[in-house]
Amino acid sequence: MYKEKENSWFKGGYNFFDTYPIRFCNIVEKIFSDDMPEIFEFHASVQKIQHVIVNLCPTEPWILPNWVILEHKTAAFLDKLKEIRVRYFPDATIHIGINKNENEHIVETIDYAVSVEWMKVYKLDAKYPQDDPVILAKVILGVDISFNKDTISQGVVILDAQTVSAVYDNCILGNQVNSRFIALSGTGLKENEIINVQLGTSIEKMFKGRFKEGIKYRVFVNGPLRGNEITDLSQRIDWSINNIVALDAMDRNIMFPMFKSNELALTTNILGELRRCIYCNFCDDICPVDLEPALYYHSYGRGEKHKARLYNLGKCIECGLCSFICPSKLELLKIIKECKALDK
Ligand code: SF4
Ligand code: SF4
Repeated sequence: MYKEKENSWFKGGYNFFDTYPIRFCNIVEKIFSDDMPEIFEFHASVQKIQHVIVNLCPTEPWILPNWVILEHKTAAFLDKLKEIRVRYFPDATIHIGINKNENEHIVETIDYAVSVEWMKVYKLDAKYPQDDPVILAKVILGVDISFNKDTISQGVVILDAQTVSAVYDNCILGNQVNSRFIALSGTGLKENEIINVQLGTSIEKMFKGRFKEGIKYRVFVNGPLRGNEITDLSQRIDWSINNIVALDAMDRNIMFPMFKSNELALTTNILGELRRCIYCNFCDDICPVDLEPALYYHSYGRGEKHKARLYNLGKCIECGLCSFICPSKLELLKIIKECKALDK
């Protein structure tokens, strides 16, 4: 079955592919861990799974692209899914969400789906943060799940292409999986590359010789929007890391910092002086779950963090779009996380 899903229910969002297109060199090399590599493990759920969503519509350009895993062999990938379903999710419907611009994958997947009753295909707009679990579950299944809650308890599993491939290699073929592909990109690097790296390798080793010389850089694991900035590069690669972005820190004054360049600079102009909220409402307009981030900022500024929680703060999916869009470079997501932490 095939469906085209529009983002009609979620307002806001942002198409980063239009603004910050990233080209990866077609270089894939293996970097080995200095220690015994860690091993990928998959634990089958004891919970009955009714829906498996396979996300083939990444919405951040720095995420590992589909072509790395699918390699123009979409039908072979779907065959792997079929075997995984038989083994682990026999009662589940498999929902495949594909970027509507990836015609080759769409045509092959639709061809495949017409001959099986357990697969549904959705053509999606690659608008960030549609691939967030909360939004993906809403767009594809129409169900509400809570941010940061395990979807398995609701009978839903969400997989990306690389995890499907690893489950197949490890659990169906019985091969040991101890490496994964990581997308490296950003203005702090000489080139944007796809690297095949053993689990357990340090980030420092992976980046050796890859930073541009003579600049300061900031490193974000799993992207500058919803990932984490790290300063300790001895951190090791594990299966949860899909991509690493290294940005020029821009630790110098630049003229007109309010104008976005077409380079991926985002919020890294740390010498751009913090300014006041100018009540532009950009943050309200872009929020995909219909919150009013400026309200949190003003509560916080008045020393009333607890009041921020009155404005549906728990619905925030921590996508970082409000911080990204704010022309005053206010660190809204940081403030939101601080307010949320009061619950802990
Ligand atoms: S971080 Fe939260 S408040 Fe900000 S845009 Fe995303 S969901 Fe909305
Ligand atoms: S985007 Fe920034 S400046 Fe504009 S209303 Fe929101 S917090 Fe204020």
